[in-house]
Amino acid sequence: MGYMEIYQGKSIFGGIAIGKIYCYSKEERRVRRSTISNVEQEIKRFEEAKGIAVKQLEILYQKAVKEVGEKNAEIFEAQSLMIEDEDYKKSVYNIIENQKLNAEYAVAITGDNFAEMFAGMEDEYFKARSIDVKDISERIINVLLGKETKTEITEPSIIVAKDLAPSETVQMEKKNILAFVTEEGSVNSHTAILARMMNIPAVIGIALKKEWNGKQAVVDGHKGTLIIEPDEVTLQKAREEKERDEADKTLLLELKGKEDITKDGRKINLFANIGNPSDVVSVHENDAKGIGLFRSEFLYLEKTDFPTEEEQFHAYKMVAENMAGRKVIIRTMDIGADKQADYFQLPKEDNPAMGYRAIRICLDADGGNKGKVIFKTQLRAIYRASTYGNLAIMFPMIISLDEVKQIKKIVSEVKNELKEDGIPYAEIQLGIMIETPAAVMISDELAKEVDFFSIGTNDLTQYTLAIDRQNTRLDSIYDSHHKAILKMIQMVVENGHKENCWVGICGELAADTTLTKTFVDMGIDELSVAPSMVLKVRKAIRSI
Ligand code: PEP
Ligand code: MG
Repeated sequence: MGYMEIYQGKSIFGGIAIGKIYCYSKEERRVRRSTISNVEQEIKRFEEAKGIAVKQLEILYQKAVKEVGEKNAEIFEAQSLMIEDEDYKKSVYNIIENQKLNAEYAVAITGDNFAEMFAGMEDEYFKARSIDVKDISERIINVLLGKETKTEITEPSIIVAKDLAPSETVQMEKKNILAFVTEEGSVNSHTAILARMMNIPAVIGIALKKEWNGKQAVVDGHKGTLIIEPDEVTLQKAREEKERDEADKTLLLELKGKEDITKDGRKINLFANIGNPSDVVSVHENDAKGIGLFRSEFLYLEKTDFPTEEEQFHAYKMVAENMAGRKVIIRTMDIGADKQADYFQLPKEDNPAMGYRAIRICLDADGGNKGKVIFKTQLRAIYRASTYGNLAIMFPMIISLDEVKQIKKIVSEVKNELKEDGIPYAEIQLGIMIETPAAVMISDELAKEVDFFSIGTNDLTQYTLAIDRQNTRLDSIYDSHHKAILKMIQMVVENGHKENCWVGICGELAADTTLTKTFVDMGIDELSVAPSMVLKVRKAIRSI
């Protein structure tokens, strides 16, 4: 038994989690090629590592039999046999003996060669073995390097990582995530936003220690702490606090079904932000009256290739139908900056937040036609889904009137093509995100072109204060309450209203209940927040 250790970080999302730690680390190829002089010793290293790997597989097999049954556990038995395969061994020995190379390199090369050979086979069974060869080679290499072999998160765990990209976060199984604790990242990074959307306690700014893996811990998302190996008193307190959280939630649930209306009768549209069709469940659970921001890029981040028109159509249709007539605002994909999908093959940039992203890709700012094709595919899917509910579209990262005009031209091309194909669509509202200072300053002109504005305070703060929203160091001065931001919001509301353009906020600031009254007084029409924040904001609106 170790001693209890307490680490202080920064809170991203409240809530208590009690459970085992899972240290998440990224896969990386870290095999060095080096020449050796002592062949015998290198062979011995390989044989010993192989022996340990076989033992690990035996343990895994036993565990799997208990948890998933004998049939499903067979894979580990098969892998043990594969490790002992004579041809595999011969290949490794050959590389060590004849080329005088180190054991990890010999295993890596052998693994790659065998995997390729299996992959090329006709027989489906052998084809599938390709992955197993890779897996066992990876296991032996890890033993040789003294590293843990990464396994999938198979039980509910507190995920501790150096940092987490949004794509990694979305690929994890939600039911197995009790909490997130990361070393890097910032309060307004997309991973933080995801944690809020998933309603998962999260803390950042705590340096990861590998030896925590498997240890019991408590995460206090309110205080921003991580407690390793808590003593019984601490555990008991955490359990009680968790219960209190649940009770608070129950109190808030009494606000379900109530209107979002101030005491003097002003109605606000209180909507929710989602990233995935499955988030609609929590939109309903928390009784948001619509979806004010569907971050459609998450459909792209989950994939290994561009989502097709058909796939997107089904996703949008499902959300439209499930929201049963309530408004759903789909934001066209905001890929780039911290939201990278490999298949976009975006070049590495010095300033990605100010780089080739979002609408700039869609309008092909760097020439070519690829972006426009991606854009039109998405628009076509949205318009096809438009007859199944109450959809609207908005566009991210707008900086000029010309962009809006180009977008409208492409939108009418898409509609004409649908008409020609005899596919029905609805006339839906078009809006833009106001998340650059440029858009704020020309919001009087932009308002003439669109039906609504949605203020993205996350990026607007970043660009106005010249503070990278991902930079942990600057979190303390990343101040969305800055007078400049509040003045900008006021300006956008006034300019919008002059042209009959309604105005909402969909950045994280929308959920800040210390500002709800300010927003209402400014004349804001809509607030769109993480589903888990809806009832809290409803309470604030109803108390004004
Ligand atoms: C914003 O910038 O405020 C916003 C809502 O968009 P995202 O956080 O996805 O950039
Ligand atoms: Mg943004």
